[in-house]
Order: sequence, then C-alpha cells, then structure tokens
Amino acid sequence: MSWLRVALPARLARDLGDWAPVVEGFFVRHRHRLPIVHAAMLLLFLALILLPPLTERAGEQDGPFDNYRLFANLVLWGLWFPLVFASVVLTGRSWCGLLCPMGAASEWANGRGLKRAIPGWVKWPGTPVVSFIVVTIWAQTLGTRDHAQSAAILFGGMMLVAIALGFVCGRKNRAWCRHMCPIGLLLGVYSRLGAVTFRPKHPVDGGDRWTEATNCPTMIDLKRKTESRHCIECFRCVHPKAKGGLALVFRRPGAEVETIRHRNPNLSEVMFLFLGAGVALGGFLWMVLDSYQDLRLWVATAAIKRGWLWIGEPGPSWLMAVFPEEREIFRWIDFLTISAYMSGWMVLTAGVLAATSGLAAWLSGRMGGNGTFRQRFLEFGYQVAPVAMVSLLLGLGGELFAVLGHLGLTPEGTHLVKLALFAAGGLWSLHLGVRLLHNQGVPARRRWAPLLAGATGTFYVGAVWYPAVFGL
Ligand code: SF4
Ligand code: SF4
Repeated sequence: MSWLRVALPARLARDLGDWAPVVEGFFVRHRHRLPIVHAAMLLLFLALILLPPLTERAGEQDGPFDNYRLFANLVLWGLWFPLVFASVVLTGRSWCGLLCPMGAASEWANGRGLKRAIPGWVKWPGTPVVSFIVVTIWAQTLGTRDHAQSAAILFGGMMLVAIALGFVCGRKNRAWCRHMCPIGLLLGVYSRLGAVTFRPKHPVDGGDRWTEATNCPTMIDLKRKTESRHCIECFRCVHPKAKGGLALVFRRPGAEVETIRHRNPNLSEVMFLFLGAGVALGGFLWMVLDSYQDLRLWVATAAIKRGWLWIGEPGPSWLMAVFPEEREIFRWIDFLTISAYMSGWMVLTAGVLAATSGLAAWLSGRMGGNGTFRQRFLEFGYQVAPVAMVSLLLGLGGELFAVLGHLGLTPEGTHLVKLALFAAGGLWSLHLGVRLLHNQGVPARRRWAPLLAGATGTFYVGAVWYPAVFGL
C-alpha cells in the first residue's frame, strides 16, 4: 500500500535530521531572549483581543483594511488560528513554548504565587477534554468569531483563569498548559502527527509519567518521555554539550501515531479526538442545517405551551451574543438549543467513531492482530486524527482563504486548495490505518476488513464536515 504514502518520505526526514543540531543550537543560544518575545506577544494579544471592542464599529461597507475591528478579526481567525494549527504538523507545539503569551503569563504568575499542590480534579485526564468542550460551545453562543467583545471575553477569560491557576497551583510549572488549556490539548494531540519531537539521550523504560520533580514546565518525567503531546518545546531540557537531557529530533510526520502503542496511547486523548471532532462540527452545522431550526421551533413551541416565557429573553452578555446595535441578540432558547445541538453532534460523532474503531479493533484481532482489544481500539482511535485535523483547520480557519482571496486567489482556486487538503487528510488517515495494521502484525492480504471499518470512520468525518467546509 505504498501508494498511500502521503507523509514526507523517510529519506527526506533523515536529511532534515542533519539540520536538527543547527536548529537546536540556535534556540538554546537564544533561549534567554524568550521572555522578551513573550512580552511582545502579550502586547500583540492586548492589541488584537482587548483593544478592538474599544474601537469604532465597522460600517456596512467597511473591509478589514478600513476598520480596526475587522482587521483584528481577520488576523485572529484568518492568520493566527490556521497558521498555529497548521504549524503543529511541521513544528509541533512550538507556538506554546516559543510564542504563546497566555502560557508565559501563567508561568510568570506561578513564580510569584502560592505554590499550592495541584488539585486532583485539575490533574484528572478528562479535565482538558471538558475544558475544550465547554470553551467550544461557549465560543459559539458568544459569537466569538463575529464580535470583538466576545473574543475579548473568551480569550480574556481564559487568560485570567490561566494566570489565577498559575498563581495558586504548582511549583515552577504550568498547570494550566498541562491540565486545562483547550488550545494546548488541541495542539498537543495533533503534535503527535508532527515532524518534530524531543527525545531523551538516555531513555529509561517504563513509559511516560507525570512528575513535579522535573525541570520541565509541563511536568514530564524527562528520561521516560516517549510522546510529544505535553512537550511545549521550551528547550529547557536541551543541553547540546551535556551527555544527558533531551535532543531535538526531526521525523516523518505521522511516525508517532503509527507506533502509538509504545507512545502512551490513552483513552482521554481518543475521547477528545472523537468528542472534539463532533462538538466543533456541531458549531458549524447549527448554522447551515435545517434540523437546527426544526429543533429550535420544537423547543420554542414546547416552552410556550408550558408558559416558560423566560426562554425568549436575552441572557447575560458574558454567556451569549447580545449585540442590539449589530442586530444580533441570542436569547435563552438560542443558548440552550445551540448547546444541545452541538452536544448532540458530539455524542453522535463519538458514537460512530467508537463503533468503527471498535469494529476495526475486533476485526484486526480476528485477522491475527496482536495485543488486546483495548490496545487495538485505542490505536485505531488515533486513525481519525489527520482527517479531523484538516477538517478543523478548513472549518475554523476558513478566514485564511479570505486572506488568500485578498492576495489574489480566485474562488475556484480556493475550492481546489480546500478539496486537495481535505482529500490529503482523508488519505493520510487511511494510510495510518494501513500502518497500524502492519504494526499489529495483520498480514497484508487480511487487512482489508479492519481497514474498511476504520475507513468508514474516516469517511464519516469527511462526509459530515463537507457541508461545514464547502457549504451545502
Ligand atoms: S497550552 Fe495553552 S496557554 Fe499554554 S502555551 Fe499552549 S496555547 Fe498557550
Ligand atoms: S520536554 Fe523539554 S522541551 Fe519539552 S516542555 Fe519539557 S522541558 Fe520543555
């Protein structure tokens, strides 16, 4: 099945590997300058997130180069989000360690704070998944992509929680980045597909562990590190001249997921892939599918029959979009039905993907696949990562194409680029299925059945995202 190889060829990755010490040396030499970079990024955060609500509203005819609010919105959703998300495949979580002002502010507060123990509920593996779901639904009901005030509330709120958590919990680390940040979770899971990792020069067996007795801000037990997920690429553990520590390594994209069995696969991450893909999808589909309007009408009728008239009142502006001057007012019914509709897609998607991954795992076992059912199920869970990542990128990062449009890309060209990326994501997922089956020891001629089951999950994700990416 080598025709399915869509990742960088291994030889190219090897050639790039020769550059690893050069890149590593550069960042180690300039590591002490990162606080200056973070301070500059904080100013940019203030300029793009907190300043726009204080500036003039856009007029009907204004474009992004006529009005600051529109310009900031374009930079945020047309450049920042898609570029950070796409960068994961090339450079892992470089955004987190090198640029992100939120994580840096949280760590800065930690250095001056109470240094209390990190509570168990924060450390629970499901916490970032819940955080992602809550923030994704909240972002929709706030209308974050359309309103400057909403973006300020959402990102400003996250910044405050990050700083507060850093101030109260942990010792010289980033509890927020490791345990609660929804963006970090998203980048972390997809960084497993990425071309960059940091490996211990002298690894210790036994698998990944969480520890506070480490120099790592995200509490990785450095010698046991096998996965990229929590590594924010801060370069603190890299000492090129020392015998110990970690070293920067370039690899073929997707290599970590192909060998995921040895790289701490876990249920919370797979659940995030399933639930996260579904809830983000629901955030688009409520705007384009008639079924949402049907649900809203049904709830409204039922509420009126029972005399629940409060459902037609606008809610608080920190929870939902209430912008009379922009002719958008969400009422409690909008808040409730959007949340329910997104949750419905989340449950449906998770159910379908769990079923197809479970079927693939069962069939793989019947065809001679090694390991337990649980191991194989988790492995197939990661198969959906490329197609889910590309769908999210095209859906949430659709504004990037508006930027490319300003630079001259035609609508036909936009459609072609989106289609090519969409197809590449699907093919990459299929390729991962082949590699996972190979590594499970299933003979080539017996792979078709589990491959078909895994492909059904990939096809489902592609099919349901299609209207969100390309319209109906
Ligand atoms: S985990 Fe979140 S807050 Fe931390 S550095 Fe990454 S994006 Fe920023
Ligand atoms: S593993 Fe190293 S580079 Fe990665 S976050 Fe920890 S200290 Fe930073």
